[in-house]
Amino acid sequence: MRRTGNARVSRAASDEHGSPRAAERPILPGATIGVLGSGQLGRMFAIAARRMGYRVHTLSPLEGTPTGQVADVEYSVPYEDLSTVRRFAKGVSVATFEFENVPAEAVEAVAEHVPVRPAWTVLHTTQNRAREKRHLERTGLPLGPFVVVKSAAELGAALAQIGTPAILKTARFGYDGKGQARIDRPEHAEAAWASLGGQESVLEAFIDFEREVSVIAARGLDAAFAHYGVVDNAHVNHILDVTMAPAEVPLAIATEAEHIARAIVESLDLVGVLCVEMFLTKGGQLLVNELAPRPHNSGHFTFDACVTSQFEQQLRAVCGLPLGSTHQLAPAAMANLLGDLWERGEPNWAAAAAFPNVKIHLYGKGQARPGRKMGHLTALADTPQEAAQRVRAARDALSPFS
Ligand code: AMP
Repeated sequence: MRRTGNARVSRAASDEHGSPRAAERPILPGATIGVLGSGQLGRMFAIAARRMGYRVHTLSPLEGTPTGQVADVEYSVPYEDLSTVRRFAKGVSVATFEFENVPAEAVEAVAEHVPVRPAWTVLHTTQNRAREKRHLERTGLPLGPFVVVKSAAELGAALAQIGTPAILKTARFGYDGKGQARIDRPEHAEAAWASLGGQESVLEAFIDFEREVSVIAARGLDAAFAHYGVVDNAHVNHILDVTMAPAEVPLAIATEAEHIARAIVESLDLVGVLCVEMFLTKGGQLLVNELAPRPHNSGHFTFDACVTSQFEQQLRAVCGLPLGSTHQLAPAAMANLLGDLWERGEPNWAAAAAFPNVKIHLYGKGQARPGRKMGHLTALADTPQEAAQRVRAARDALSPFS
C-alpha cells in the first residue's frame, strides 16, 4: 500500500504568516463540545471526544439516542424549540453537527452564542443538491451532466437535453438513494416527478461508472489540510455495503481525487471533516457525485486503521487544535451491518469475534429495521482485498443460520 503518512497532512502557507483564525485560542480538553444530531456519527465523535477528556452535549428530537448514550448530557427537544437550543448553546464552547439537515434556525440560534464548525454557510450549500452542484460547477470541478428542475414541464425539457437513462433526485433531504427515481424512458417523466412529490430536484445523467470512490478530507482552523487517501465503495440497493482502503486506483487518479477534495474544502472555507463521493468512469474520469460536510460512513475504517480517526480529526478541527496524522497503519475494509441481519434473530456476535483482526462496532439502536445502519465491522489485513474478504466472511458468520 501507499504509505504517505504525515505527508497527507499539510500546513497551510497562511499558517506561517499567522492567519487571523490561527490566532484564535484552541478549545482544550475539559471543555464541552455541542453536537447537533444524535446518530452513529455523533456517537463515534463523542467517543473520540470523551477519550481526549472533553465533555459532550447532544441535541436532537429523540431520546436514548446513539450519541446520547455516550454524551454527558442529551437534550431531547425539537430543533424548533429555540429557547432550549440557546440553553444548549450556552453550555458548550463550540458546536458541530453530525447530519446535514439540521434546520437553519437552530444552527443560527447556536451561532449567536458559540462558534459552529463547519460554518452555517457550508451547511447551507451542502443541504441542497442544486446549490451544491452549482457551487461545484463554479469551482470548476468535474461533474456529470445535470439540470435543476422545478416543474414537470422543466423535467421534460431537461430529459430532452440529458437523455435517458437519467436519475431524478430531490434537492433536499435525500440520502442512501432515498428521494431518487431512475427514468429509463421520457414517457416515465410525469410518474417520476409525482413519485418525488413534485419538489425542486436535480436531473442527472446516469453514469455508467467503473466504481465509486471517496476521499475523507479535513481542514483545520489554521487552514491546514489532511486527507485519508482514496477508498473504494461498493453499494447494495444504493446503501454503502463495503469500503476498501486504500482503493486500487492508478496514482494519477488518486492524486487527482485528493486535489479535488482539497479544492472543495478550500472553496467552502471548511473547518472540519468533509467526504467527497465520486464516480470513476470507465474512461478513467473522476466525477463528483456528492458532498457530506462531516465524517462519513466510508471513513469508519479510520477508527481502527489510522493514527487519527476521522472523528478525532473533526474534534481537532472544530477545537482549533492541529490536525493529527492520517497515516493508515494497515490495509482495511469496513462492512455495514444493516437491520436486515436481525431478521431471523440476534446475530452471532461470538462468531464474528472469533476473527482476531476484525473489530465490531454497534451503535446502540434499539430497533433493527431493514436498511437501518445498526453497526459495522472493520477488518485489518495485509492487502485491502484480503481485508475485504475477511470483513465479508466475518459478517457472513453473524447470520444465525448461515
Ligand atoms: P446518492 O444518494 O446521490 O449518493 O446516490 C446513491 C447511489 O445511487 C450512489 O452511490 C450510486 O450508486 C447511485 N447513483 C447516484 N447517482 C447516480 C448517477 N448519476 N449515475 C449512476 N448511479 C448513480
